[in-house]
Amino acid sequence: MRTAGRRAGAEAGERRIDWAARHMPVLRAIGARFAAERPLAGLRIAACLHVTAETAVLMGALRAGGAEIALAASNPLSTQDDVAAALAGYGITVHARAGVDRDTYYRHIHRALDVEPDLVLDDGCDLVNTLHTERTELLERVTGGCEETTTGVIRLRRMAAEGALRFPVVAVNDTRVKRMFDNRYGTGQSTLDGVMRATNALLAGRTVVVAGFGYCGRGVAERARGLGARVIVTEIDPVKALDASLQGYEVRPMAEAAAEGDVFVTVTGNRDVIRAEHFAVMKDGAILANAGHFDVEIDVRALGELAVELNPGVRPNTDEYVLPDGRRLLLLAEGRLVNLTAAEGHPAAVMDMSFAAQALAVAWLARERAGLAPGVHAVPEEIDAEVARLKLDAAGVRIDVLTPEQEDYLRSWRIGS
Ligand code: NAD
Ligand code: SAH
Repeated sequence: MRTAGRRAGAEAGERRIDWAARHMPVLRAIGARFAAERPLAGLRIAACLHVTAETAVLMGALRAGGAEIALAASNPLSTQDDVAAALAGYGITVHARAGVDRDTYYRHIHRALDVEPDLVLDDGCDLVNTLHTERTELLERVTGGCEETTTGVIRLRRMAAEGALRFPVVAVNDTRVKRMFDNRYGTGQSTLDGVMRATNALLAGRTVVVAGFGYCGRGVAERARGLGARVIVTEIDPVKALDASLQGYEVRPMAEAAAEGDVFVTVTGNRDVIRAEHFAVMKDGAILANAGHFDVEIDVRALGELAVELNPGVRPNTDEYVLPDGRRLLLLAEGRLVNLTAAEGHPAAVMDMSFAAQALAVAWLARERAGLAPGVHAVPEEIDAEVARLKLDAAGVRIDVLTPEQEDYLRSWRIGS
């Protein structure tokens, strides 16, 4: 029975991966090229990424390139178990299960590191952190890494500034094809998808408070507005706040927005953005969701201490906290990434660009790592341009090219008005 169940899970996972691959033409093309050129032959990779169908397509491309891969999840709740089961059948070692506790999460990262990697892929810096604190015996072999997300890059830059980072890491997050589309359109759509799947809330006419107006926050605010919500933005950066204001959003401190919001989404990469003083003034039925850094943006512990009753699972991925005066606050996905827990993460069509950049960055790193100093490195500009060009080609979109005269004009300072 158990074997039959596992096979059924793997088959469901395979169908999901095939569906994702259909929407990832750029990564498919890179996978085909890797299969012919084998740029990763002989390399061992330890990866810590969300175990989703889209990640499976990336793993397939890297495997086609010749890499041996061990994959752990980059979040305790985001693993798609059917995809994990299918990946094992593709020759990828997976250490991940949905809904694990913190200890198991880190145990899985250790198991992935047991492959003794040459290269590492990370999403949030947990694997690199573990490597530098608890698995230092492996550091000598590791010659490079890639980081997928904003918070991970920030942490790596801190490590590099303190002289702690022992190998070169490329900041995949900072490519234009990642940040402009994944963080913005991907987070915008999948975050609201998660909120709606969890609560079935109508967003039209409701007040959505978006904390943080960076790449992700902008995407969430745009999509919420598109669904007919009134959007309030909170920020700490005056330029971002001004940008939000000129885009027509109301900008307020959280202390004021807290009393008005029906739905709250944090996307700051910071901690304690929504905390006790804010819970104290929220409306009955307010929905709290995080799509940013780990589970610290909403102060979940303070919410638990304030509450007199906790009703877990009033809906899938929705826990109800009852406050002493009877108000009920609804916390989604335990304050962890709502889009990867209550929904399926970003659509494959967006991950196509992020993971195409990731795959090309891995191949570049494999080639260039000997000459790169420890620290955080930018992905070469050509990779950005190549991914965007392939994506446009796949969509049949053509663009203009500079004439020689235009190229000269753009390079010259001699031609006046
Ligand atoms: P960003 O740096 O572009 O934006 C973050 C914004 O939050 C900044 O404008 C900053 O000024 C603001 N901010 C910081 N502290 C604040 C506070 N206390 N109150 C209000 N605003 C505050 O970063 P980003 O690329 O938008 O990423 C944001 C977070 O989302 C990161 O943790 C990143 O790793 C994560 N992320 C999540 C997903 C996802 O799938 N859910 C996708 C990409 C990135
Ligand atoms: N590990 C941290 C930070 C993750 S930030 C945490 O779990 O809290 C979110 C990252 O998830 C983004 O950079 C994005 O590229 C990635 N992501 C979003 N949708 C995804 C999907 N469908 N498959 C794989 N990764 C995805």
